[in-house]
Amino acid sequence: MPRMSAPHNIYIHVPFCASKCNYCAFYSAAVRPDWEKYTRDICAEINHWADILGPVSVPTIFFGGGTPSLMPTETFSKIMDILAERFHIPAGIEITAEANPGTITPEKLNEFIATGLNRLSVGVQSFDDEKLKFLGRRHTADQARRLIDYAMSRGIRVSADFIYGLPGDRTDDVLQMCRDINDMGIGHCSMYELTIEPATPFGKMNLAMPTESKMADMYCAIAGTLRLGRYEVSNYADAAQECRHNANVWDGAPYIGIGRGAAGRVLLHDTWYEQMGAGVMFTPMTAAARAAEKIITGMRTRRGVKITPDVDAVTDWQWAERNPQMVRRHGDRLCATETGLLTLDHMLVELIR
Ligand code: SF4
Repeated sequence: MPRMSAPHNIYIHVPFCASKCNYCAFYSAAVRPDWEKYTRDICAEINHWADILGPVSVPTIFFGGGTPSLMPTETFSKIMDILAERFHIPAGIEITAEANPGTITPEKLNEFIATGLNRLSVGVQSFDDEKLKFLGRRHTADQARRLIDYAMSRGIRVSADFIYGLPGDRTDDVLQMCRDINDMGIGHCSMYELTIEPATPFGKMNLAMPTESKMADMYCAIAGTLRLGRYEVSNYADAAQECRHNANVWDGAPYIGIGRGAAGRVLLHDTWYEQMGAGVMFTPMTAAARAAEKIITGMRTRRGVKITPDVDAVTDWQWAERNPQMVRRHGDRLCATETGLLTLDHMLVELIR
């Protein structure tokens, strides 16, 4: 009997947006989508992976974008149907979709929930309408609040994304944003520092960004003000509300990326493959390369990375022992300290052999 492959988390990319935001360098296009073609393509990719992996168990499903909330219910429902047909989808697994305010009505959200959605990740970015305009967002703060309130009233888990460190931002602005998040009772949020990518409208604007030390003050103020605990460099949650999909991926679990711009890490017959789309890329990885990735993602999290033999083999233990202010060992896991998290990129260069 052929050996069953390991469980694989599933990420589905929806690469369409109503318009492009001024800071965005993600793979997404502001076009009128041909949803029938998109649905056919995604279903074909799902069939492709099911043929390769067999009916493996799926611990989480994540629809990311782009703007998944633009999807018609029919598309969402056809994709969920084929996933259930070709894989083992245990009852109650986490099924997330990202949503932008103004692109999903209460009726459509109810239809998504009836089809299995149980977690909504809302792109809020700011509770200040002037800042939303500056960022090139199409919605108002009020629309974002209403979407979050409605989703929470339906009993599903809700996350919200925010951006801080805009030109002219002060630590006080970030503190206010955190107090607003606390007041709304949101159980999960992601707080991203604004970074300027060259191929974006912001990249051509010569913006006066806050200094590195001001950004670091804001980062520390967030952790000190939010009611939620930090469980990854940019992610905060109540204990029961952590994003299981991302936690699995950061912990080194296999995942399939479905959709042209989606990348995955597939585990087949004890070999890891770097993957993109269905057949666009499917390249075997060395054990050392995969172990280094596990350290890079694991060290971003409060739980750290599990010290499996492959991780052990690429860790510079002498450096780790000389730098207890940066990394600590807790049982069978290696974790970054608060200081280590602030200089993560530098630390990883030293830690990985
Ligand atoms: S909605 Fe998200 S993916 Fe789309 S352009 Fe804005 S930031 Fe980029």
